[in-house]
Amino acid sequence: MTTKKCDKKVIYHIERGIMRFVEVPVPCGNTDPYGSVALCPKCEHKRKSINERSAYINSLAPSNWGDF
Ligand SMILES: [Zn+2]
Repeated sequence: MTTKKCDKKVIYHIERGIMRFVEVPVPCGNTDPYGSVALCPKCEHKRKSINERSAYINSLAPSNWGDF
């Protein structure tokens, strides 16, 4: 299985205080500021398999997932 890397960025607007939002571009496939996976509309359909894979990885990982 070959996966062509997507170079799209997903823009998030993160609240930084009252009525202040910061634009945060996250490369498609990376972890978004909320801790889930940022996916552009084209890749959105991959979310389910990505979540299943990360749930599997988490189940294997030791508890010292740490200050990453
Ligand atoms: Zn994408």
